Amino acid sequence: MASPLQQEDRHEDRRAIRDAVRTLCRDFPDAYWREVDKKERYPQEFVDALTASGYLAALIPEEYGGAGLGITEAGIILEEINRSGGNPGACHAQMYTMGTVLRHGSEEQKRRYLPAIAKGELRLQAFAVTEPNAGSETTRIETRAVRKGDRYIVNGQKIFISRAKQSDLMLLLARTTSYADVQDKTQGISVFIVDMRNVKGKLDIRPLDMMINHHTNTLFIEDLEIPAENLIGEEGKGFRYIIDGWNAERILIASEAIGDGRWFVDRASSYARERVVFGRPIGANQGVQFPIAQAYAHVEAADLMRFDAAAKFDRKEKCGAEANMAKLLASEASWEAANVCLTTYGGYGFARDYDVERKFRETRLFTVAPVNNNLVLAFLGQNVLKMPKSY
Ligand SMILES: Cc1cc2nc3c(=O)[nH]c(=O)nc-3n(C[C@H](O)[C@H](O)[C@H](O)COP(=O)(O)OP(=O)(O)OC[C@H]3O[C@@H](n4cnc5c(N)ncnc54)[C@H](O)[C@@H]3O)c2cc1C
Repeated sequence: MASPLQQEDRHEDRRAIRDAVRTLCRDFPDAYWREVDKKERYPQEFVDALTASGYLAALIPEEYGGAGLGITEAGIILEEINRSGGNPGACHAQMYTMGTVLRHGSEEQKRRYLPAIAKGELRLQAFAVTEPNAGSETTRIETRAVRKGDRYIVNGQKIFISRAKQSDLMLLLARTTSYADVQDKTQGISVFIVDMRNVKGKLDIRPLDMMINHHTNTLFIEDLEIPAENLIGEEGKGFRYIIDGWNAERILIASEAIGDGRWFVDRASSYARERVVFGRPIGANQGVQFPIAQAYAHVEAADLMRFDAAAKFDRKEKCGAEANMAKLLASEASWEAANVCLTTYGGYGFARDYDVERKFRETRLFTVAPVNNNLVLAFLGQNVLKMPKSY
């Protein structure tokens, strides 16, 4: 049976995308990502190159100036970046945040923002959902947007909001009706487009000192005015709109994890072939070889689920279970591969020059964000397998 990689590469255009992204990534070798990580700087050169190539606008339809590709192709693009040793976390959110505008925005909003995003003239890199007092329970957000005439006045706080300083626009989730005043907790939440170029003094963005170079911030929002025309869709229906985007996000994150998993397996197996201790390559010892083979099998299995989820998504079929399972399995497989790779490298795994410790830190995120694997399991247990709800 053909491997998943071979199956999807039967499509010539997908193989061409894979090759083109590999070529682009060659200009951004390990040393580039190591330096960016060490200095905690934004990989602007890489983001510029990806934007210029058109791949960052993969999911924007052609009529709005994008490439009009499917989630399968977008996943291949991100997978190849991770597989090259890079990290698309600096800009990947643009691929899925714009989906909220595309699916639920007005024609006027789509015409105003999407072509400029596709050209790289506007950056939509930030999505402000998480709050300190709500955590995974998104319906408990307390940031409030109150309508006053033709604007909304917003007050509140957000945490772990990535790339807010590297973005022109930000999607913001806020309560327009308080939790206490709604019968259905998913109601009364709205999504806004915030133009961060005009918010001086109203939006305080404070960088967080994090384990990885992810440009993540706390936001303090005080009397921020948003024109009513920047509301996406209907007031109070925002929770539904972001849920619509979750499947795309989970499939893309799974793709990144697959890319990382393959990077770790490649590096571990090469090192195990070359490193000689006790007079033979360490990979000749089954204690070293088998864990790498096991991690490889798990990454390839997760990849099957990723392509299944992506194909269903692209056919516009229901894919909640598959998208969640892809994210779960891929993040676990990449984390297993990361551990195996670090173990295979011994002490060198901890040395920055070998890049394993950097990728090890980076790939750990996928089990936690954008959604924790516990909540993925709860979704499967409660919504798919119909067991009792815990929340
Ligand atoms: C690097 C980074 C970047 C991020 N970027 C963004 C961003 O750009 N925008 C944004 O909005 N958010 C962002 N996040 C936030 C991320 O989505 C949240 O951290 C995540 O959703 C979990 O929320 P929390 O951290 O408050 O954990 P909590 O909700 O406090 O959960 C803590 C632990 O308890 C577990 N838990 C909680 N409830 C249950 C339950 N009912 N059953 C079982 N287990 C449970 C969780 O699984 C987790 O293990 C980012 C986070 C990180 C680390």
